[in-house]
Amino acid sequence: MSVNQSAPPVPPFEQPQPIYPGYHQSSYGGQPGSTALPTHYGAYNGPVPGYQQTPPQGVSRAPPSSGVPPASTASAPCGQAAYGQFSQGDVQNGPSSTVHLQRLPGSQQFGSPLAPVVSQPALLQPYGPPPTSGQVTAQLAGMQISGAVAPVPPPSGLGYGLPTPLASASGSFPNSGPYGSYPQGQALPLSQAQGPPGVLPPQRSAPPLASNFTSPASGGPRMPSMTGPLLPGQDFGGPPVSQPNHVSSTPQALTPGTQITGHPGPLPPMHSPQQPGYQLQQNGSFGPARSPQANYGSPYPATPTFGSQPGPPQPLPPKRLDPDAIPSPIQVIEDDRNNRGSEPFVTGIRGQVPPLVTTNFLVKDQGNASPRYIRCTSYNIPCTSDMAKQAQVPLAAVIKPLASLPPEEASPYVVDHGESGPLRCNRCKAYMCPFMQFIEGGRRFQCCFCSCINDVPPQYFQHLDHTGKRVDTYDRPELSMGSYEFLATVDYCKNNKIPSPPAFIFMIDVSYNAIRTGLVKLLCEELKSLLDYLPREGGAEESAIRIGFVTYNKVLHFYNVKSSLAQPQMMVVSDVADMFVPLLDGFLVNINESRAVITSLLDQIPEMFSDTRETETVFAPVIQAGMEALKAAECSGKLFIFHTSLPIAEAPGKLKNRDDRKLINTDKEKTLFQPQTGAYQSLAKECVAQGCCVDLFLFPNQYVDVATLSVVPQLTGGSVYKYACFQVENDQERFLSDLRRDVQKVVGFDAVMRVRTSTGIRAVDFFGAFYMSNTTDVELAGLDGDKTVTVEFKHDDRLNEESGALLQCALLYTSCAGQRRLRIHNLALNCCTQLADLYRNCETDTLINYMAKFAYRGVLNSPVKTVRDTLITQCAQILACYRKNCASPSSAGQLILPECMKLLPVYLNCVLKSDILQPGAEVTTDDRAYVRQLVTSMDVAETNVFFYPRLLPLTKSPIENTTEPPAVRASEERLSNGDIYLLENGLNLFLWVGASVQQGVVQSLFNVSSFSQITSGLSVLPILDNPLSNKVRGLIDSLRAQRSRYMKLIVVKQEDKLEMLFKHFLVEDKSLSGGASYVDFLCHMHKEIRQLLS
Ligand SMILES: [Zn+2]
Repeated sequence: MSVNQSAPPVPPFEQPQPIYPGYHQSSYGGQPGSTALPTHYGAYNGPVPGYQQTPPQGVSRAPPSSGVPPASTASAPCGQAAYGQFSQGDVQNGPSSTVHLQRLPGSQQFGSPLAPVVSQPALLQPYGPPPTSGQVTAQLAGMQISGAVAPVPPPSGLGYGLPTPLASASGSFPNSGPYGSYPQGQALPLSQAQGPPGVLPPQRSAPPLASNFTSPASGGPRMPSMTGPLLPGQDFGGPPVSQPNHVSSTPQALTPGTQITGHPGPLPPMHSPQQPGYQLQQNGSFGPARSPQANYGSPYPATPTFGSQPGPPQPLPPKRLDPDAIPSPIQVIEDDRNNRGSEPFVTGIRGQVPPLVTTNFLVKDQGNASPRYIRCTSYNIPCTSDMAKQAQVPLAAVIKPLASLPPEEASPYVVDHGESGPLRCNRCKAYMCPFMQFIEGGRRFQCCFCSCINDVPPQYFQHLDHTGKRVDTYDRPELSMGSYEFLATVDYCKNNKIPSPPAFIFMIDVSYNAIRTGLVKLLCEELKSLLDYLPREGGAEESAIRIGFVTYNKVLHFYNVKSSLAQPQMMVVSDVADMFVPLLDGFLVNINESRAVITSLLDQIPEMFSDTRETETVFAPVIQAGMEALKAAECSGKLFIFHTSLPIAEAPGKLKNRDDRKLINTDKEKTLFQPQTGAYQSLAKECVAQGCCVDLFLFPNQYVDVATLSVVPQLTGGSVYKYACFQVENDQERFLSDLRRDVQKVVGFDAVMRVRTSTGIRAVDFFGAFYMSNTTDVELAGLDGDKTVTVEFKHDDRLNEESGALLQCALLYTSCAGQRRLRIHNLALNCCTQLADLYRNCETDTLINYMAKFAYRGVLNSPVKTVRDTLITQCAQILACYRKNCASPSSAGQLILPECMKLLPVYLNCVLKSDILQPGAEVTTDDRAYVRQLVTSMDVAETNVFFYPRLLPLTKSPIENTTEPPAVRASEERLSNGDIYLLENGLNLFLWVGASVQQGVVQSLFNVSSFSQITSGLSVLPILDNPLSNKVRGLIDSLRAQRSRYMKLIVVKQEDKLEMLFKHFLVEDKSLSGGASYVDFLCHMHKEIRQLLS
């Protein structure tokens, strides 16, 4: 700022800028005349008398969303003893996709009719042909909930509704029914229940289930006495004959139609109860449960005290459900990868269920939008609302209109229909798409959404071939592709004016905290180079985006960085109550033209404020200023706000600290998620009208009220990033990585999204980061390639099996070069009159995405317990409806899950025990608000890994194998103390080191000679040139590259304090905050279902 008249550090800015007179007062509506100006340019006040002492020093804290379990319980959980039982070679849930166990035809009788039945579904069936959308019913282990089991004391802190029943249901098998008593065959039949006998196309065979249910052996190895033949699950490849329990399913089970006529009633059991291993389990050895799950009775054989501590004999030793006998996410993911990862997904067929989000696959657009753009909860919709109500399966689409594609896939073609604009239906305004029907020799077309007959404009006329198709169909993306873009005409522009290119405004908090932590210096340094990477259109040489700079604490400083200036000039606006922009010309500039001035500015900012004592900040006026600047420049754009503290300075949007953890689990808990003032909603509305998107980077040392501060980012389609207790040395990599990605990513501005549907259904509800001023238009000041909008549909009429149902998502937006465009995505779905078809074409990952968003919005208005209960009830209704209408008759003791939904319970449980719905003691209010808004715009892949983290063993696979190792289930019992694991959930990344890991491994990875020398909490691995180090670091890089936010690494040593943090993510286990284990939840779900059915 040398140009400025005053002495450093901050020159008072007193004289009106030359450019000021050009500024149009009218744009600031309500501003006093220009004569008032000088008063607005108050000199920057240096040290503020009111300066308060140094803010609390940051303590190292959990990353966002990670709950640190209460320390007090630290002693309880399964410590090392649990691991102690695993030798390095212990069972992990490795890929067992190659396992083909045959179910023996001759099932064996099991002991008592009352015995709990663990039905063996089609599981053990060898994999069938490449999966279709078919389904196989999963039958769950006989969670004979109502058996003659001695009641287990109600679990403490049980998360869901009905603790008492659950207690008895909690997986405690009547001891008469060891795992041996698996009834056979019945499971299978169900699978095919849906179709008319014999008519079904080849379905996806049930392989995934197979391995899940082959459990007994895999449970075995954890028992000390079971050695030798009882090999880990991954060894299933071996002949199972030696293990009676591994009798496989009857092949016929998979035969279409068998279910209906096949095995009415319970089938003969096949497992011998004589399995020696299970005898062990029955003699009370299971009594001592793992500490955290004491009340449930441990489902885990690997209880630390097992074998060494007999425990009091139990009258009826509870029989636990074998964790290996229940559907495994890992197995389902592996199976889908194996079955569907090799061939491209071709979108030409209506109602096809795409591969899972966890499978890598290529997409060929042949008329329907790629699943990268749209995923649905079901690809076959019930024809009537009655059916839909009966099934309770939410009908929803998760839409990511600007999703980025892999390089092998082409971006949507841009279609130009000339001055007349895109061709649309006159009545419903749907855009031309492959489903429109041309008639009368091509002179007219019938709208596929509303049936209206429209004339084809002369310039668009084309002849039809003998099949009634236009002969130019394949020359026109809008007639042959699921996704494409139209160039919009001026009619689609605000005020009928072609928009100016958007602008980015960087707004930097320069209060004491921001300076002290080194944030301002780091940021300014980074911006110097980062600004060369602003988003560009196609092959453009330089970005059309203009940039501007503001710094602020209690007052705002605008900078004139006009290229003709030798030095930047600062203007201070201290009247934050009535924010206006003091300059127009020179505020928003082209980086290349003004590079020298900008570089100078970025060099000077950290210096100018280096001695600041100002701790107070404003926030709403900052947004207001940015928005006014865009308004004055008549463009849309994005504000990048870097903010450190609760805005307590006297100004609009001033906040107070209202954090109160005592509200948790009360009816007032919802207030923690609500903004404390309506000011930010009003501001957001103005921003949306201007196409002003706000991205917020938070660097709090304490409570900053994320729930309130994130209102504007949330409603403007922006992003929030949070770096608690930011320290340059620890957090710069994460912050800079996020910043680079955020600045560079492609964004559409000033967008409106509309979802049209064919007659019979309509979009009724929307979830995401956007604003709605009516019931149909989703308004997005900005929309980037990471954001999704989840849309729920309801029936308003009967659907037709023949015509199916159509969705068309149209996004009108301004590209980063200022071009107005329409992006269109079309998707055709099937409709069914049989519920079984619905259940056969569902996608659980998408269901969970919807249900999580539904629940996370619900906490704004209802107690979290109500929200949890609602989810559980809905899930039970979904599964009960299947059981009642689609599954074959079978004993009530069996839990029967639709193949496509067999992971619904485990995933739903993860949602229920998440930090939003069941917070641990260490999760802050800000973390909860932060995660809540993050999840709101997550896509299906993100919610999938967020709720069920990936746990990757690192030394199991050969070192030269550089592909990602197969994951294991997120449970402590899957950890071997001789191994090292990576765990990631899209936000957090842990490297867990077992206490008995080989010394050579420790040396190779950490460059220290023993486990004890590894630094706990380490966030960077040393760069060592050896195969293991290269592999692990490469894997970490690759995981980070897959996620939209940088995941900071935390090295966790077994039995170290930090391990509690890590265990929070082992979601199949009971959580310290009271969340149920997977096994227990499954039992609870079964009970709920049975109640509904009885
Ligand atoms: Zn129409």
